[in-house]
Amino acid sequence: MKSGRFNHSNKLATEFIQSHELDSDVILPWLAEQGGYCDCEILANVEESWEDDISDAT
Ligand SMILES: [Zn+2]
Repeated sequence: MKSGRFNHSNKLATEFIQSHELDSDVILPWLAEQGGYCDCEILANVEESWEDDISDAT
C-alpha cells in the first residue's frame, strides 16, 4: 500500500495556474508551504489563503 502525498498529484492545480497565466515555479512551492502538496490537500488546506494571496500578488 502506498500512502501519503505520493499517491496524489497537483495536476488540477497546475492546470488552474496555467489557465490563469500564473507562475507555477512560484505558486507550487508556495502551495506546498501551505500544506498543499496535491489537489485534495490544496482544496482542503489552502483554498482561503489561495484566494487572499493570489489577489494580493496580482
Ligand atoms: Zn491528495
